[in-house]
Amino acid sequence: MKNLLAFLFAMVFFTNMMAQETYIHAGKLVDTKSGEILKERTIIVSGKRIKEVKKGYVNPESDSAKIIDLKDKTVLPGLTDMHVHMESETNPSKYLQRFTNNPADDAFNSVGFAEKTLMAGFTTVRDLGGSGVNISLRNAIEAGKIAGPRVFTAGKSLATTGGHADPTNGMNNAMKGDPGPKHGVVNGVEDARKAVRQRYKNGADLIKITSTGGVLSVAKSSSNPQFFHEEIEEIVKTARDYGFHVAAHAHGDEGMQRAVRAGVKTIEHGTLMSEETMDLMKKMNAYLVPTITAGKEVTEKAEIEGYYPELVVPKAREIGPKIQNTFSKAYKRGVPIAFGTDAGVFKHGENAREFEYMVEAGMPEMKAIQSATIEPAKILNMENESGQIAKDFFADIIAVDEDPTKNIKTLQEVKFVMKEGKVYKNR
Ligand SMILES: [Zn+2]
Repeated sequence: MKNLLAFLFAMVFFTNMMAQETYIHAGKLVDTKSGEILKERTIIVSGKRIKEVKKGYVNPESDSAKIIDLKDKTVLPGLTDMHVHMESETNPSKYLQRFTNNPADDAFNSVGFAEKTLMAGFTTVRDLGGSGVNISLRNAIEAGKIAGPRVFTAGKSLATTGGHADPTNGMNNAMKGDPGPKHGVVNGVEDARKAVRQRYKNGADLIKITSTGGVLSVAKSSSNPQFFHEEIEEIVKTARDYGFHVAAHAHGDEGMQRAVRAGVKTIEHGTLMSEETMDLMKKMNAYLVPTITAGKEVTEKAEIEGYYPELVVPKAREIGPKIQNTFSKAYKRGVPIAFGTDAGVFKHGENAREFEYMVEAGMPEMKAIQSATIEPAKILNMENESGQIAKDFFADIIAVDEDPTKNIKTLQEVKFVMKEGKVYKNR
């Protein structure tokens, strides 16, 4: 009896030591580093990582290894969306829900949104602002309690009083109060420091600021500058102490330029970007995260009576239709681009629509794919772990029916999803 137990113990120990191996036979493989489509490859996955990529279809020597047949598919690394909001999703009652939802409601909703995002082939996302539920969501996914993409979260966005992410905008005077750094509202450099440190304390991975007005906030301007240069500079400087990069929401050019000069890493939307700002972004190696899909969505929804508050409608009509065109100009002028959609402003899981709009605006298919793989990996300090199917990278692997460099729309119907070696979808 004792011997048997010892034997079983040893067996369990031994199997754990030898991580389960999976051999994926890929008909075509998108090499995001070289920008080439490779044919007939075997990806050997061991545990959470890729052990090796071999030419041809190789079969495992051991019986315990699994084979996944994707010979009739095009396989690519899991995609990254650099701009999502996992706590919520557009709906006609969204503005009312600020008063009726409890954080627990947002939390339960976010579980479904996270799963949809992963099933759409997005294995990594950057959450650019919510109430803080997004931090717990990241932790729950990381702990394997729920299915979702790897999340890098800003927690709560930083704004100035009355600015785009002031949480009490549009409320009556009794409720408006005077939120400060703890709630993400900053006025002056002292507040700026404190707000960044509070995000660190809360568990954020990066900082998001709203350097200009925005479309969906209940406030008049869509694009005025809302931070002073020294406030942004202080945020960037403090963020650096914690290893955080800074993302700046910006539609207007002045606020955008202040943010780029102060050293933010990404400009979100970038709607009214001047050529001068484009050149400055190139010089500073700052990325544009286009969110064309959100632009299309708000343009459409603004025409539905009562969908948005009255103050929002003219802003949506003005800003929404311009985003794709600005992206086109910025890309052609050489501004670095990182894929991002603003999912939540439209339905989660439809993130890959953005690829179609990018290609429509003149970006080659392979560049668009690289903007959602190797480029985000650079910003997220995951250059050697994410965005490629290569040795030692995370086994974040997806597959589609067609070659996406010939038909980009195929990315809207992802058939296979693996994240960190675990299969979540296989059709
Ligand atoms: Zn956003």
